[in-house]
Amino acid sequence: MRVVVCGGGIVGLAAAHALAERDASVVVCEAGRLGAGNTERSAGGIRTQFSTRVNVELSLASLDVWESFEERFGVDIAHRQPGYLFLARNPDTAAGIEAAVDVQRDAGAASELLAPSAAREHCPELDAERYEVASYAATNGFADPHLALQGYARAAREAGAEIRTHTPVTDIRIDGDDEGTGAADVRVETADDSLAADFVVNAAGAWARRVGRLASVELPVVPKRRQIAVVEPTTSVPESVPLTIDLDSGSYFRPERDGNALVGGHFSAADPAVDPDAVETNVDFDWAATAVERAGETAGYFGPESRIRRGWAGCYAVTPDDHPVIEISRPGVATAAGFSGHGFQHAPATGRIVAELCLDGRASLVDVSGLDRERFDREETHAERHVA
Ligand SMILES: Cc1cc2nc3c(=O)[nH]c(=O)nc-3n(C[C@H](O)[C@H](O)[C@H](O)COP(=O)(O)OP(=O)(O)OC[C@H]3O[C@@H](n4cnc5c(N)ncnc54)[C@H](O)[C@@H]3O)c2cc1C
Repeated sequence: MRVVVCGGGIVGLAAAHALAERDASVVVCEAGRLGAGNTERSAGGIRTQFSTRVNVELSLASLDVWESFEERFGVDIAHRQPGYLFLARNPDTAAGIEAAVDVQRDAGAASELLAPSAAREHCPELDAERYEVASYAATNGFADPHLALQGYARAAREAGAEIRTHTPVTDIRIDGDDEGTGAADVRVETADDSLAADFVVNAAGAWARRVGRLASVELPVVPKRRQIAVVEPTTSVPESVPLTIDLDSGSYFRPERDGNALVGGHFSAADPAVDPDAVETNVDFDWAATAVERAGETAGYFGPESRIRRGWAGCYAVTPDDHPVIEISRPGVATAAGFSGHGFQHAPATGRIVAELCLDGRASLVDVSGLDRERFDREETHAERHVA
């Protein structure tokens, strides 16, 4: 089986690794350098606290890999598990957190509902009075996205995959399908080469819609700008503090090195589609000031003297229901895109699922049959409420 993976972000490299490990002949074509996309702009958050079963299942199947990454791939990715803390101010949001904890537990994730005062055990500076309820999961945390990307690249190469950087895919031609197998006679064009394959994998993240169109596959994946600031708070944020999310204000923070914090969130009602090639990657000062102010409402670490040290912006690849498209889109074309801000953490499971779709014709690790793009036409979408 010959597979060309389009996109050398964490999803493409995890897919390349899983395919090569199962003896497929794999070439990854990456338009820029490895990490040129959005993987290295992510906060590296890894959690099991979602509100839909399929997202929790993708998390659990991925968590297993994150927890054993160094053992498996020989790379320390600075994986930390101080937990995630979700907070609700409003009764409706509180009911959503309670329902989500049921979904998480039902799927096998160890989440707990906490009174906000009890959540202070994890986040001592929490302004508990402001909140109705909290949920916490101790296995949640974060890793270094750059190290994880490099780890997957190394593992994919060691398994036999070839990785071509500065090699944009310019066209995809599908000349005939191999009946019943899901594969086809695929030609993947680059500036220097024409690669014959049985499958092309669209793992182009925020560029997935454009790449899909090369193969006449229309994907509802829209790039939206998101920002992060590195903040020196007035009181150091201990490394034991969870990634803490206020679902009503949209603000989140997590400890970074030396008592600093990463602070993020989306606060504007306007959320236009952006061009992923032209997106402003510098952080907006006004946004950063708002982000620190919002984080300061959640916890006392962020007093008025907090200093914004630096920041950056990138793109989420968003679908209308904040769930990815993972499917065989047509014979010869596998799609894994539209992760809506969750693609870093879900990459390990997704890579293995892509390999199953290409090599076995169906996914068995997680039932992703409801993540096809036609769900939007059928109006059978999901509703992820735990989006930051
Ligand atoms: C500010 C911010 C914070 C985030 N925080 C988190 C988080 O805490 N946890 C989490 O799970 N996720 C987070 N995300 C989302 C996460 O970064 C993405 O979901 C994830 O990186 C998607 O990986 P990917 O491999 O699909 O895409 P990318 O890493 O963007 O890779 C796609 C690649 O495709 C390449 N490409 C495009 N067109 C072509 C072409 N024609 N030919 C060849 N290659 C092409 C691009 O150059 C790019 O390298 C965050 C994102 C942002 C912006």
